[in-house]
Amino acid sequence: MTNRESMGSMSYDAVIVGGGLGGSVLAEQLARAGHRVLVLEREAQFKDRVRGENFMSWGVAAARRLGIYDDLVNAGRHVAPNWILYLMGQPTRVRDLCATTPGGDPMLNISHRRMQEAMIARAVAAGAIVRRGATTLALDAAAGRAPVVTYDVDGERRTASARIVVGADGRASNVRTWAGFDVVRSPEMLRVSGMLIEGRGILSRGRIRGGSSIMARRRAVDRPAC
Ligand SMILES: Cc1cc2nc3c(=O)[nH]c(=O)nc-3n(C[C@H](O)[C@H](O)[C@H](O)COP(=O)(O)OP(=O)(O)OC[C@H]3O[C@@H](n4cnc5c(N)ncnc54)[C@H](O)[C@@H]3O)c2cc1C
Repeated sequence: MTNRESMGSMSYDAVIVGGGLGGSVLAEQLARAGHRVLVLEREAQFKDRVRGENFMSWGVAAARRLGIYDDLVNAGRHVAPNWILYLMGQPTRVRDLCATTPGGDPMLNISHRRMQEAMIARAVAAGAIVRRGATTLALDAAAGRAPVVTYDVDGERRTASARIVVGADGRASNVRTWAGFDVVRSPEMLRVSGMLIEGRGILSRGRIRGGSSIMARRRAVDRPAC
């Protein structure tokens, strides 16, 4: 394990760029395994935005395996035990997820921002060094030497090297570009967009045009249970 300071630049086993759900959970798992981990997260505080808030049953089972289930649930979840398919406003098929999935789990809906805060707190508790408000600016990676990231935090420019740099910086990943990966995309089959709607009954007053579908999920913000 490398753990040394060289020329004002810290060296780690892993530098993870992005402390969203992916980066934070990876950081926690690596730190628990005894690795020295640095997480660089641009946002000082996560914002509420339309993002993934629905854990399918198999994701819930994976969360149990990773040991993060309790903290996710404590972030405030709504339990959705059924997948209901509506056609023309009428429920046509109901799948009981507890009865029909291998783990017997329902779906969970959890505020993304609250999940992120819970998971980054776990990374800190596990011993990862987490820098919030830290923007990664560049990656210098070449064969035969440790990769180096340059980042700004607290008005200072810093560098860190590591055995591995992980780009967990989302779908528009800069790390991916800096590392020279090609992006290969499948043809577009589906478009997904989202809205946060307050109030009950709003969906039932709307009309959905043919060819579209809508996924409605009840969100829990401060409700601890369903
Ligand atoms: C509208 C919508 C609905 C979705 N619904 C679902 C759903 O219901 N269920 C589901 O499972 N998934 C859903 N998803 C997908 C899910 O939200 C994503 O897969 C997931 O959030 C990706 O997490 P991540 O940690 O990989 O990336 P992100 O959440 O994008 O995190 C990347 C992090 O990197 C940070 N970052 C970026 N650049 C830098 C930089 N240069 N320096 C430092 N930090 C940086 C960002 O601040 C951010 O915190 C949805 C996505 C969208 C857009």
